Amino acid sequence: MINVVGAGFAGVEAAWALASRGQNVRLYEMRPRRMTPAHTTHYFAELVCSNSFKSKLATSPAGQLKAEMTALGSIVLATALEHEVPAGEALGVDRDLFGASITRKLEEHPLIEVCREEFTVEMAQAAIDQGDITILATGPLTSPELSGWLAKLTGREHLYFYDAVSPTVEAASLDRSIVFAQSRYDKGEGDDYLNCPFNKENYEAFVAALVSAERAPIHAFEAGGVRGEVEVGEGYALPTGESTEERFLEKIKYFAGCTPIEAIAEKGARSLAFGNFKPVGLIDPRTGRRPWAALQLRPENKEKTLYSLVACQTRLKWGEQRRIFRMVPGLESAEFVRYGVIHRNTYIEAPKALSENLEMRDVPGLFIAGQLTGVEGYVESAAMGIYTGLAVLAKNQGREFPRPPRASAYGSLISHLQDDTEREFAPMNINWGLFPDPEEPTRDKGVKRAKKLEAAQAGFTQWRTALDD
Ligand SMILES: Cc1cc2nc3c(=O)[nH]c(=O)nc-3n(C[C@H](O)[C@H](O)[C@H](O)COP(=O)(O)OP(=O)(O)OC[C@H]3O[C@@H](n4cnc5c(N)ncnc54)[C@H](O)[C@@H]3O)c2cc1C
Repeated sequence: MINVVGAGFAGVEAAWALASRGQNVRLYEMRPRRMTPAHTTHYFAELVCSNSFKSKLATSPAGQLKAEMTALGSIVLATALEHEVPAGEALGVDRDLFGASITRKLEEHPLIEVCREEFTVEMAQAAIDQGDITILATGPLTSPELSGWLAKLTGREHLYFYDAVSPTVEAASLDRSIVFAQSRYDKGEGDDYLNCPFNKENYEAFVAALVSAERAPIHAFEAGGVRGEVEVGEGYALPTGESTEERFLEKIKYFAGCTPIEAIAEKGARSLAFGNFKPVGLIDPRTGRRPWAALQLRPENKEKTLYSLVACQTRLKWGEQRRIFRMVPGLESAEFVRYGVIHRNTYIEAPKALSENLEMRDVPGLFIAGQLTGVEGYVESAAMGIYTGLAVLAKNQGREFPRPPRASAYGSLISHLQDDTEREFAPMNINWGLFPDPEEPTRDKGVKRAKKLEAAQAGFTQWRTALDD
């Protein structure tokens, strides 16, 4: 018997992938006995916010990922298509019909035993002691006690309780005539960091736009205290603040060790130039002088196709981020593959703690699926549910689990989860920047994407054959 914990997007997919291939599964779901601060129903795979499963365009990154998931038997996507509602280019669903239908399918499967109860720390420990295989798919709002247990298992530093993410841009969209590679004081640490140099005028314009920009709303539960406490048990006493905003900011500082860039900018006209954007040790090769301030960019992957904006954690609305960060010299045409977010989330630092099969390196038999692995979104979490289900199937059958080719959408997500480049590991949606560049370089964006897609399709076909062997 295989335990799958959490009947969200990843849990239902993992359970379905296993049961439809002849494995007995026990699926635990704590709702409705114990709700999370965001879920409101007893349905499996509840859509807690938007009702969209991303673009239907086959030629988009999400389209490729969904094609791969469909070929592997995705229950989420099959059910979504049965309850589709018009939503333009996106795959939108009637959330109640979708939820009721997917719950029924899982409950009626003869090889799936549904347990509507919370999976406790004692149960988790007992499963490990007995050598049972367990897939944890408890998501961004994992129950507090289990989060605390996971934190001990991974080491506190490898489990995150909040996302505090800076935006990430495609390397190909940077203006290299402005942006320069240099380490501080030219210490010869290579050209890993890129620098966007501000002069006084464009720095002041950037700061003025930043402090007046529109921010994303804070969910009450993210600041704590409303509809159940979402904290992580012993050892993590919370700071207290006056308002929701203050409490939220204090928590971010406490759990994620940072303050949003807009809050720092509010502290004074030069607070960024003396802090996050300090230019010390840098010389702009165009002027031969130190810039007024410099925003640094750090590679997000080994191939250096993606760069994150260092120390730019923000909770500005996404449209505002695009508008304002494009005011930074060198980022005028930046293509954003991920916007900055600051919100409640539980996830593991996968490159440190998980094997490429998403099994905990230090706890054989304990697998992780879904958003907990460090992907983001309904579709990506579901994708990682299928993946973990297949990895567990291979283990149960004593077979080697073939790694998905790097070029496929699955290979791209796994590469994000396994890339140990020095960085702030943060959850990622599927996006063009995760797919490897074609071998023959091209500056034409359309051609480049078509080649990426072609390679992804070929890679996935190869993987599928290997899985079936
Ligand atoms: C407020 C909010 C808004 C969001 N909006 C969007 C959006 O608009 N679009 C989008 O794509 N993504 C959105 N997301 C992210 C999306 O919800 C996740 O990517 C996705 O649900 C993750 O899937 P999962 O299976 O990993 O976790 P979940 O879908 O959260 O499933 C985890 C399940 O585990 C259960 N569980 C937790 N602990 C236990 C336990 N100890 N025992 C038994 N069961 C347990 C939970 O009740 C839950 O059903 C949002 C997330 C939040 C929190």
